[in-house]
Amino acid sequence: MYLVILGAPGAGKGTQVEGLKDKLGLVHIATGDLLREAVRERTLLGQRAEKFITQGRLVPDDIVLELLEDKIGKEKDGFILDGFPRNLFQGRKLDEILSRENRKLDLVLNLDVKESVIIERLGTRLVCSSCDRTYNQENSAASGNTCPVCGASFFQRDDDKPEIIKERLKTYLEHTRPLINYYRKKGILHNVGGAQSPVEITREILNFLNKKENT
Ligand code: ADP
Repeated sequence: MYLVILGAPGAGKGTQVEGLKDKLGLVHIATGDLLREAVRERTLLGQRAEKFITQGRLVPDDIVLELLEDKIGKEKDGFILDGFPRNLFQGRKLDEILSRENRKLDLVLNLDVKESVIIERLGTRLVCSSCDRTYNQENSAASGNTCPVCGASFFQRDDDKPEIIKERLKTYLEHTRPLINYYRKKGILHNVGGAQSPVEITREILNFLNKKENT
């Protein structure tokens, strides 16, 4: 199965994929994580990408595709893409890459979360400095401010500062949201309301996939 998870920054894409990937036996491909890793390792690509990330803008398509094209080609047993595509060009490119090997996207999950919730979430979110898992104020305090999975300390991402959050939301509305219509027209979009808890959202998605399989 080839899935894409769409949603504004802070909609909970990464959290959902963490809950879904093992149950569905799919590989999680997150472009944001791949880009941040390239920045940390100071690769040529990372150095080119860094300023766009810190400004809350999209990294140019050629950089993202260079990072991703091989990976998508290799993962033949199914994946969930998180953070890609982020504009129509990337959406069309993904179709093209998959169709080269007679593959196609099965489903696009769209996490629909109110803007006020997103701003609140991103402003208070913490990230593990080692594994990139994200935490909110409550669960980070509960774990003694170190990552319960790998023990490393938390930090606030530079792009989770208020003025950059605004820029990322603007980028989302302008470039990424049009993909909702693109996939709706193809008949593969499924909207998931974001008002419920993360566990309930995961359950709703799994129920939906079960029903889809049985029809
Ligand atoms: P979020 O969904 O919370 O904004 P991500 O970790 O997915 O966070 O992305 C962080 C940043 O990485 C984005 O703001 C953007 O600069 C860059 N980025 C990630 N994926 C892409 C992509 N497919 N195309 C262009 N830029 C990207």
